[in-house]
Amino acid sequence: MHDGPAFAAYPLDRAEPSRRDDAALAALAARPDARVAAFWRLKPLVRDEGGVVAPAWLEVGRAGPPAVFLGLDADGAPVFAAALDPAAEPQSELAPGARFMELREAAGTMDAALASILAAGRSVLAWHASHGFCAKCGAASAPALGGWKRVCSVCGTEHFPRVDPVVIMLIVRDGRVLLGRGPTWPERAYSCLAGFMEPGETLADAARREAKEETGVVLGEVGFLMSQPWPFPSQIMLGLRAEALTEEITIDPHELADARWFTRGEVEAMFAGTHALARTPPPVAVAHHLLRWWLAEG
Ligand SMILES: [Zn+2]
Repeated sequence: MHDGPAFAAYPLDRAEPSRRDDAALAALAARPDARVAAFWRLKPLVRDEGGVVAPAWLEVGRAGPPAVFLGLDADGAPVFAAALDPAAEPQSELAPGARFMELREAAGTMDAALASILAAGRSVLAWHASHGFCAKCGAASAPALGGWKRVCSVCGTEHFPRVDPVVIMLIVRDGRVLLGRGPTWPERAYSCLAGFMEPGETLADAARREAKEETGVVLGEVGFLMSQPWPFPSQIMLGLRAEALTEEITIDPHELADARWFTRGEVEAMFAGTHALARTPPPVAVAHHLLRWWLAEG
């Protein structure tokens, strides 16, 4: 049983050498046990099986040509992802009883390994949908490597799917943890501070800069705890533990509506739903697991 953050349990062998061989890819797609995760406007086709959501796999060709080769499952069966035409309403007879659902919503009740497959498919398909033209010369580019690359038709530049690193910090000091809430967040929602990394930064640099910018808190030692792919569209959440050297909080109102220090007892109450002011992030989020880790550590 996977009890880590969502999307962090990818079960497939990515079979990278097969991506380089068009004949091998075609042979994989032609196999009777090949299956496709279909997406429409980046929503996966899923089926609700008694409160548990699972992908509604299609045979190859039912959702157009397979766009991305995701890998081989434990039985060696090939798994692909494909995007249906976003401009057209999808045919309802694609799979009886199935529907397109936001992955963020579906992941809450989905098997962790299956959700991780859909997460990778969503990220790569989102990249194809928004990177049809060469960033260097502006000409059209075409997919290659089983969907894991695009090549410019004019200048030949190769483009690869992007992954955007985000640091998210379990900031602690004297038995308390620093949590904040964004200006547009739902009521009572508090979470760990987070932000995109910038070029030239180490993980620790990014953590220290974000904490300083958002709350004025100065961080000392920073260490890595856990990571999570976050396919909306293509972040990697880098969960860090950081020692705060200062306590005083001065929030940046553009970034946060509030930030404060919480004791272990308060975080336990947040998990139990009995804290008057705040609640924890949902299990799908890495911040939930950072806070669980902190309570277990104490
Ligand atoms: Zn080009």
